[in-house]
Amino acid sequence: MSGYELVVGLEIHAQLVTKTKAFCRCANRYGAEPNTLVCPVCLGTPGALPVFNREVVAQATRLAIALGADIHLHSRFDRKNYFYPDLPKGYQISQFDHPFSTGGHLSFIVNGSTKSINITRAHLEEDAGKSMHLADGSTIVDLNRCGVPLIEIVSEPEFRAAEEAGAYLSAMRELLRFIGVCDGNMDEGSLRCDANVSVRKIGEPEFRERCEMKNLNSIRSVERAIAAETKRQIAIYEQGGVIHRQTLQWNEQEERLIPMRVKEGSDDYRYFPEPDLPELRITQAFVDDIRASMPMLPEQLREKYSTTYKLNREAVYYLAIDIRISGYTDTLIETGSTAQSAAKWVMGPVTRSLNERGWSFDEFSRRVPAATLSGLIQKTDRGDITLGQANAVFKALIVKPEKSPDEIVAELGIEVMRDEVKLGAIISEIVSEHPEELAKFREGKTKMVGFFMGLVMQATKGQADAQLAKNVLMELLEAKE
Ligand SMILES: [Zn+2]
Repeated sequence: MSGYELVVGLEIHAQLVTKTKAFCRCANRYGAEPNTLVCPVCLGTPGALPVFNREVVAQATRLAIALGADIHLHSRFDRKNYFYPDLPKGYQISQFDHPFSTGGHLSFIVNGSTKSINITRAHLEEDAGKSMHLADGSTIVDLNRCGVPLIEIVSEPEFRAAEEAGAYLSAMRELLRFIGVCDGNMDEGSLRCDANVSVRKIGEPEFRERCEMKNLNSIRSVERAIAAETKRQIAIYEQGGVIHRQTLQWNEQEERLIPMRVKEGSDDYRYFPEPDLPELRITQAFVDDIRASMPMLPEQLREKYSTTYKLNREAVYYLAIDIRISGYTDTLIETGSTAQSAAKWVMGPVTRSLNERGWSFDEFSRRVPAATLSGLIQKTDRGDITLGQANAVFKALIVKPEKSPDEIVAELGIEVMRDEVKLGAIISEIVSEHPEELAKFREGKTKMVGFFMGLVMQATKGQADAQLAKNVLMELLEAKE
């Protein structure tokens, strides 16, 4: 890599979440029996006419707003002509020189710092079918995917490292999911990525010839393929060779690039305006309505969590990654929990229970609505019950969603030990049994407080009032000999 600089642009294809396909009423659904979600329009039967689906434009608008792009109130569909078995019409309806939106950017974190990549354009198009090559050499085709709405998001060639491309794709997937535009399932093909890769000598103003890499079906593949292609191009230049523009297919199993075909120029697609569809016109009022209905985006949420709520970086990222998690956390706070406690509970017991039980967040929040958990959190923060007891109540609550925290507290016979004399006796015994730890505390190791509190909770089976116990403990630790 020495002396060379990587230049990468990404094209992300995202299948839009809609009930029906882009130009017909067939269901837009993954996993159906092959060739069952088809009709004359998406099969390209002569005479069948496309009708544009309004849902598609709403989804594209949401994305364009989220990326801060310029939405064009007038855009146009074009035919992109090519022959391939998975495209029965012989052309794909796409947008060429009048795309839906231009500009915008996406910020993300890579290697601990923030990077922002500019977006060239986002245009609407339809997906093609899916060819499957069988072991006997024959190929079969499933046309259920024909006509599924796609948005293609083209970035500027601003990536300078493979990890940047991976981090951007990951952030884009997060955003698409957050605003409900695409489910982001790369292994089902609903989010796909191509990369245009070239290298040049550092300081060189011009771009050199690039190669296009297709079939990058995971974030790992994107990073691996770019790294492999960078190495290949540098090796060719170092041997005095030239790079010819070509399309390469990434083979995920073998982790290598396989040349596909010599890349045709865009002229070969013979783009021309789609004669069967009118120009796509939307109103500013339509855009404004959608803007008003948009949730707070991950970037804005992170700002709120760090500035207003003063949460640490780990919490800020964790809570803003999914709209259900952020929504739940916000409700905890709105119903009276402190932000710190809300974050602690969501990242701790809530997440653990999801992992242990395999529940989705929706399933969890149906069982334990935020308002219910908020009641338990406040009870704990007030010292009505200890943290250990609260955990026991929480565990009971998730399997008995019909009960309230109070009912479960009564059922479990939970009590808080608030007898200062009794607590004092227990704590002073603990302190006297640990002279070395006491000495360490007196040397300034304040961490020892946690050690002693752990023993206090152990001795009282988690029933000691934490605040009271801590006060008693501190008095003893700090007492003059
Ligand atoms: Zn159809």
